[in-house]
Amino acid sequence: MAIGVWVLGNQLWQEQAALVSCQGQSASVLFIESTQFARERSYHKQKLVLVWSAMRHFADELKDAGWAVTYTVGDDTEAALREWIEAENITELRLMDPVDYPFAAWLEGLELPCELTILENNLFLWSKDDFNAWADRRKGLLMESFYREGRKRFAVLVEGKDPIGGQWNFDKDNRKPPKGKLNTPAPRWFEPDATTQAVIDKVETLEMPTFGEATPFHWAVTRDQALEVLEVFIAERLETFGPYQDAMVTGEETMWHALLSPYLNLGLLHPLEVVERAEQAFADRDLPLNSVEGFIRQVMGWREYMRGLYSHFDADYAQRNWFDHRQPLPEFFWTGEVEMNCLHQVISQIHRTGYAHHIQRLMVLSNFSLIAGFTPQEVENWFHAVFIDAYDWVMQTNVIGMGLFADGGLLASKPYASSANYVNKMSDYCKGCRYNPKQRTGEDACPFNFFYWDFLHRHRNKLDTQGRMSFILKNLDRMDSEELDTIQQQAQDWYKAHL
Ligand code: FAD
Ligand code: SF4
Repeated sequence: MAIGVWVLGNQLWQEQAALVSCQGQSASVLFIESTQFARERSYHKQKLVLVWSAMRHFADELKDAGWAVTYTVGDDTEAALREWIEAENITELRLMDPVDYPFAAWLEGLELPCELTILENNLFLWSKDDFNAWADRRKGLLMESFYREGRKRFAVLVEGKDPIGGQWNFDKDNRKPPKGKLNTPAPRWFEPDATTQAVIDKVETLEMPTFGEATPFHWAVTRDQALEVLEVFIAERLETFGPYQDAMVTGEETMWHALLSPYLNLGLLHPLEVVERAEQAFADRDLPLNSVEGFIRQVMGWREYMRGLYSHFDADYAQRNWFDHRQPLPEFFWTGEVEMNCLHQVISQIHRTGYAHHIQRLMVLSNFSLIAGFTPQEVENWFHAVFIDAYDWVMQTNVIGMGLFADGGLLASKPYASSANYVNKMSDYCKGCRYNPKQRTGEDACPFNFFYWDFLHRHRNKLDTQGRMSFILKNLDRMDSEELDTIQQQAQDWYKAHL
């Protein structure tokens, strides 16, 4: 019997379940660097460089560790897999659960000439079964309850059954608007080595639709480099992570954010080591609890919750469209050429780097897509195409659920819809904008304003069923009917001019 392990591009960890299952046995390992999946939808050039370079580096690491590794580069994934199975006389193919539904469905459709064993994905803290057991016990699936359960289960920032500091959540201390000069620390970046440079050259000459610029490319591509990013975050960024977590500043692309999602999602880092490192730093250096707890909540709360829900919901979750939104995504989402300064700044930044932080994603990009009524699946496809850390499991629940409320509230307790007030308070974008964040109608009115009120009006009946919207809907009722007519007309005129 010959065992073969196929390591996917986002499973780059020596302790991953399929590799670990072969310890003490001889096994062949396969990597397929295939353009087939990259051809099916466009991706950010830096995402392709990151994944392929990290795969090449990890394959070398496995060779150095004594594994028999085959690394194939091609365009037909299935053909490459079959050839290797035949050449190596593989009788059992082991693969760690890919998590993403579209890939799992593709895999299921293959009729392989050998046995296929899928192992539980151990790159998350919660197994699918454990998450489902938690979810099945409850009526509502609130993130906060899940997060508290996780803190207790993994004994993180707790004393016995109680949270350290007497509270589970210090979010209210973490919403400071950006005022005055902020001394943000420089992120830890790397120069491309020969392997990465070879991948950059390949990506630059690909004949298929892609997004963004391949260079300058500064992301980590090995576990050692990713660990260095983690250490720099712990040493220089964690202390101030909390207060300005929601702030957005022109030219400050990363603020105090960790920049760890690309590495966590590839398997270069494990969420438990990241959480434990932050907890250790809290114990060693007496760091502010609002920053440490705020960061830990992102990784062991939001990240695990999003993956858990993705696997808990059926694959048709991706097709949800609760508001029945059908407007096409405007072309400027691909070019960044738009007079709305917040959108221009954030889209241009993503074009250069593949990265935007959470509030730029939630309160600028998806908030605008929600209130303007763009089709959720087009928006999701765009997010998937432009971000360096995008994978189906993290994209669907974040975009369809959290960002667009297209699931009707399975995940969020109310839509993240906001007028220009939020962007104006939490960023400096409005100062450099041709629109006026205070105006709802007229030539200078900010589109966030008229779309916000138009959205509330369009979906009045549906929003009435969401208890947390009642206060806002009362404000809608107080609006002068003439102003509401003008707002609706202004929204229609915007569509005519931009779509
Ligand atoms: P930090 O702000 O420093 O947070 C630390 C870590 O917490 C992140 O690295 C990430 O692993 C985790 N995290 C925090 N929030 C979430 C969340 N909601 N879901 C999953 N992980 C979370 N994250 C992705 O990894 N890939 C995506 O494609 C992605 N798309 C998003 C789309 C939308 C509309 C929204 C609202 C959020 C999305 N997120 C996505 C979540 C979050 O915005 C990013 O994980 C985060 O901005 C990554 O940057 P960072 O590492 O500097 O994060
Ligand atoms: Fe964005 Fe409106 Fe502010 Fe301009 S005025 S930056 S469009 S929120």
